[in-house]
Amino acid sequence: MRVDFYDTTLRDGAQSEDIAFSLTDKLRITEKLDEFGIHYIEGGWPGSNPKDLQYFKEVKKLSLRNARPDTDPVMTALLDAGTDAVAIVGKSWDLHVRDALRVSLDTNLKMIGTTIAHLKKVGKTVFFDAEHFYDGYKRNAEYALTVIRTARDAGADVIVLCDTNGGAMPFEIFDITRAVGKEIKTKLGIHTHNDTELGVANSLMAVKAGCALVQGTINGYGERCGNANLCSIIPNVVLKMGHTGIESEKIARLRELSLFVDEMANFIPDKHRPYVGESAFAHKGGIHVSAIRKNPETYEHIRPGLVGNSQRVLISDLSGESSIRYKAKEFNIDIDRDPKIVKEVVKRIKDLEMGGYQFEGAEGSLELLIKKKLGIHRSRFELIGFRIIVEKKETSQPVTEATILVRVGDRVEHTAALGKGPVNALDNALRKALYKFYPELKKMDLVDYKVRVLSTGEGTGAPTRVLIESSDGKHTWGTVGVSENIIEASWRALVDSIDYKLLIEEEKKP
Ligand SMILES: [Zn+2]
Repeated sequence: MRVDFYDTTLRDGAQSEDIAFSLTDKLRITEKLDEFGIHYIEGGWPGSNPKDLQYFKEVKKLSLRNARPDTDPVMTALLDAGTDAVAIVGKSWDLHVRDALRVSLDTNLKMIGTTIAHLKKVGKTVFFDAEHFYDGYKRNAEYALTVIRTARDAGADVIVLCDTNGGAMPFEIFDITRAVGKEIKTKLGIHTHNDTELGVANSLMAVKAGCALVQGTINGYGERCGNANLCSIIPNVVLKMGHTGIESEKIARLRELSLFVDEMANFIPDKHRPYVGESAFAHKGGIHVSAIRKNPETYEHIRPGLVGNSQRVLISDLSGESSIRYKAKEFNIDIDRDPKIVKEVVKRIKDLEMGGYQFEGAEGSLELLIKKKLGIHRSRFELIGFRIIVEKKETSQPVTEATILVRVGDRVEHTAALGKGPVNALDNALRKALYKFYPELKKMDLVDYKVRVLSTGEGTGAPTRVLIESSDGKHTWGTVGVSENIIEASWRALVDSIDYKLLIEEEKKP
């Protein structure tokens, strides 16, 4: 069966707490969804606010290949929006008709019928969203069915059955959808919410029962606990259930789409998202790693490349020689030329981990460590010493100054710099000293600095782990340092960070 995907990130998704898409964001997301092959994109309500109205003016200028923008109506604005397809929402739960709409059950049917008939007369493709359909059906099946019969008779092209409150169970969705499908021959769609963490499961059960259109949002954004997540539904429907709808080369860009929408929403991507998350195909245990090296199918439900993701091996105290071999291969290092070396590297990592190091987020430091052990690392600068002064007078802001002495080749550099705090001042001084020799360092920035006090019960005397993330716009890398002195821990992570950037330049990493 061919399944159509209908994205409502710009309407339902935009209802999510903490999301505020600008007009430009909305247009960029529309283009991206179209590129991906989403069949329908719901843009919002043209009558509800000036931004959505403007969106419909602008979206006409985009040349979309696959998708048809869709609107939700306020009648005249809706017609002005000029889209081919429109979605209208109607109540199918008698309780809502009486208590929320406060009209008679008959009047509700008439309103639905006339609206759809009118839209059909002016040539629109009409989606009828039967709001609260499943809850309505459970209480008063006859009325819920009469509502969608009315929509069918008025000419709706697709009738979307909604679990608006997100409380239905997968088996209920299956039974009810199948019962509806026996009578209603109009194309059926499904719209679910995730309030019981069943948004995806419920959508799949509806497809199994015959729905050929699925509504959802990218990354499951939506009010309360979110909408059904298209990033999971699409691969499930196509790769697992064997339906068509989106071509495989498009699905291979699923992770990219998910990250793009996170970026627009200004959210840090959730690593643990199924299919698209950074950790979705990450392996940590030593036995797992040696097995996936022999055959990835042992611990992976699909090949990660199918959804644009990739396999990762995490280095941790659980890992053994096979993980180190795997990582070395990833770093393009021939580690097996000396069989003793692998054992030594594993031992060194274990010792460091005992002392509080963690290499999971610090692959830059790990690569440097392996290269140092192999004797193929060239030191590019050497610290002779540094001093940091923090001066605070009465209630004024403290002033921090760092002075540093480094050796590069046979030259000695002596510089000083101010900073917002000791680590910042030290970073500034070190860079200032090195720019002359390595101008490429100007292109690099520290993007994240995380400090973790390792709990040993020693309070402020406890060892500290510093993780630094750096970027040059093209590469991003993590480095780590541990010490009982936070400045020393930061210094170690900082030195690795700079060292790694110089390695990138020297090896011309892609
Ligand atoms: Zn909804």
